[in-house]
Amino acid sequence: MTAALADQARLDLPGHWPAALGPRALAELDAQTPFLAVDLSTVADRYAAFTAAIPGISPFYAMKCNAAQDVLGTLAALGSSFEVASIGELRMLQEIGVDPAEVLYSNPVKAPHAIAAARAAGLWRFSFDSEGELYKLAQHAPGAAVYIRLRVDDSTSLFPLSRKFGAEAHEARALMLLARELGLEPYGVTFHVGSQCATTSAWRQAIAAAGALMAALQEDGVHLRMLDLGGGFPSRYVERVPPLDQIAGTINAALEELLPYRPALLAAEPGRHLVAESAVMVTTVLGREVRAGENWLYVDVGAYNGMMETQQTVQQWRFPLWTSRTDHALVPHVPFTVTGPSCDSSDTMFYGVNLPATIEVGDRLYIGSAGAYTLSYASHFNGFAPPEPVFVGGPAGTNATVQRIPSQPHLPSSPAAPSPADTPSHLGTPSHLGTASLAATASRVATVLPPAPPLRAAGPPGEARAGRR
Ligand SMILES: *Cc1c(COP(=O)(O)O)cnc(C)c1O
Repeated sequence: MTAALADQARLDLPGHWPAALGPRALAELDAQTPFLAVDLSTVADRYAAFTAAIPGISPFYAMKCNAAQDVLGTLAALGSSFEVASIGELRMLQEIGVDPAEVLYSNPVKAPHAIAAARAAGLWRFSFDSEGELYKLAQHAPGAAVYIRLRVDDSTSLFPLSRKFGAEAHEARALMLLARELGLEPYGVTFHVGSQCATTSAWRQAIAAAGALMAALQEDGVHLRMLDLGGGFPSRYVERVPPLDQIAGTINAALEELLPYRPALLAAEPGRHLVAESAVMVTTVLGREVRAGENWLYVDVGAYNGMMETQQTVQQWRFPLWTSRTDHALVPHVPFTVTGPSCDSSDTMFYGVNLPATIEVGDRLYIGSAGAYTLSYASHFNGFAPPEPVFVGGPAGTNATVQRIPSQPHLPSSPAAPSPADTPSHLGTPSHLGTASLAATASRVATVLPPAPPLRAAGPPGEARAGRR
């Protein structure tokens, strides 16, 4: 970071830091750290902006990114559908009333029992990228609709995915024809440009590849019903990323120019983009030491209980940071190494980050843009509890700053909310949190929201929603 940028970071919260999670609001949340403060109105705002930017798009939220029930419920209430990678994720959606018929199963390599169980639940669209998967699908989900995952250039993303998944363009046509021979419906095409993708041209190239496949298949009498743009839409951390409008401009132009026809369903699977900026990880300073001339800060969250992405990108990117110190913007800042609570050195998250020289044990460190791939990655390693979500902000445009008990069910017209102890542990909180911690949260959280709006948006299921916007 340049000196000027560092100075600005010291004096001003980043512009994308949710107002509802400013330092004063955070100081009023007295839950035990570590916890993830999530502003649900930011999630709603990102969803609205996303659907407005790409006309006709149907988002299928990639729930692995943040599967807290209030996040899922907020998105479902706004009309989002979902993308799953496992039968476990599908079950979580069913718990909150999402119809499996509206869900995409986008993991290209699945367990046979998971295929059969998803099919039995009513899910009918599965991705694949290989011949082996097609035989599996034909056997365990006969007649299902299948969409092919193309390998695309993801070299400009922070988390590339294409070495693990994706059919080569020259194999794709034959695979789709094999699907038809096996009694499956060659339904669509998808790709993933890699997570936190910073170049708009990646989408244009990928849409070109999808368009070429669509044109080739037309010669075989195959008309695809879905084009799925995948995920990868970036969020703002510290580095600049192209704004959504710029990405959407590229995508909208590519859709006009590079497709032989427009499929009935234009889908996307945003994950990070919808949730990352909505949350702040709140941690407490456990220790401050000088080791070999280096300032070390020990906090109660680390790579193993929430901040795993700092390991996947060591020295490549940073999270916006702030502290609970009232002198934060007034005192000089000095470089710190910030590490987690475990006895393993690889839970160290940040190197050389500037923090107030006055920071001391008991102060809180706020990690911004922490809503994506944090709760869902957190383990109990070394006996340290994963952060619990604490929700502020109402869904769908309300600006009220109220906290909600994470376990509160979102099911419409439930006569009485079950007590946290009655609630299955996978409701309202990552499944690794037990009922004991739910009860603890419930007793800590003061204000309870009235029941959330009904989950299911009115409207036809599946691809019929494509024409809605
Ligand atoms: C993880 C994933 C996504 C979401 O990716 P983001 O970069 O978080 O938007 C979308 N689709 C599939 C198939 C995924 O595996």
